[in-house]
Formats: sequence, C-alpha cells, structure tokens
Amino acid sequence: MGPGGEDPAARSASYACPSAPAEPGAGLLGVLGPDGKIHNLRSLMPVDEDFLAAVRVRGAPEERMRFSNRCQTSGCSQWTGTRCGVIDRAIKAMEAPGAPPRSDLPPCSIRGTCRWFAQVGAKACPTCAYIVTDTRQMNVAAE
Ligand code: SF4
Repeated sequence: MGPGGEDPAARSASYACPSAPAEPGAGLLGVLGPDGKIHNLRSLMPVDEDFLAAVRVRGAPEERMRFSNRCQTSGCSQWTGTRCGVIDRAIKAMEAPGAPPRSDLPPCSIRGTCRWFAQVGAKACPTCAYIVTDTRQMNVAAE
C-alpha cells in the first residue's frame, strides 16, 4: 500500500482490463460455458473486425465471451477514482448467502497484468469466472 492507503499498482494505467469491450485489437480471454462460468483460453486470442462481425450474428459478443484490453482507468465508467469497481462489487455479491461455490485458481493468460488480480489478488479469480461484461455501462459511456 502507498502512503495514502492506496495500492500504487492499482493506480497504474499499465494493467489489462479483464472485461473489456469487444473491439478490434482486444484479445479473447474466455468463453461462457453451459455451466454459466467463463472458461479462459490458454492464450489470449487477438480479435479483428472479421471475427467480431461473425460472432455478432448471434448477439453482443460480450454476452458470451470476455475480452481483455488495456485498462482505461479514468476513461472507464467503472473506475472509482483509484481502482476498478467491478471486481469489488462482484466479490461482495459472491460473498452473499447462496452464492456459487468458489474453486481453485483457473488458468489465465493475463494474470501477470490483470487489473483485478493487482487489486485484490487471488480472490479475484474464482469470482471472475462468473462475471459477464456489462454492455449497458458501455452504452452509457458511449452516449
Ligand atoms: S481475475 Fe484472475 S482469472 Fe480473471 S482475468 Fe484476472 S487474473 Fe485472470
């Protein structure tokens, strides 16, 4: 922690967002499985417009896939001023009674630079598997 109680790593803009918009230049991080969990690919797969056009035929790609891109910090509606609010809210929700059981760390291609892992460590990862990117926030941000 820094002198002000903030994690300096969490403030840095050089981290990867694990729940980024589906856009050319992003990387495909994982795919939603029939068990309702995101299953990460062994390596990040760069996506281009052709790929995205093909998957948009079945609706918004973010509804069934997760993408990674550079963390935008203050350029993102999820940024609280010092950290990403998504993983904090998700962990809180997962701790509620009746929440899905947690499992071991899943394989992940971006753990070394992941914004959420930098913020909260290994407890981000079991929760991460249940997060579907909120496209409503993206629409709001784009307006
Ligand atoms: S929270 Fe964990 S599993 Fe999810 S993207 Fe970050 S490092 Fe990977």
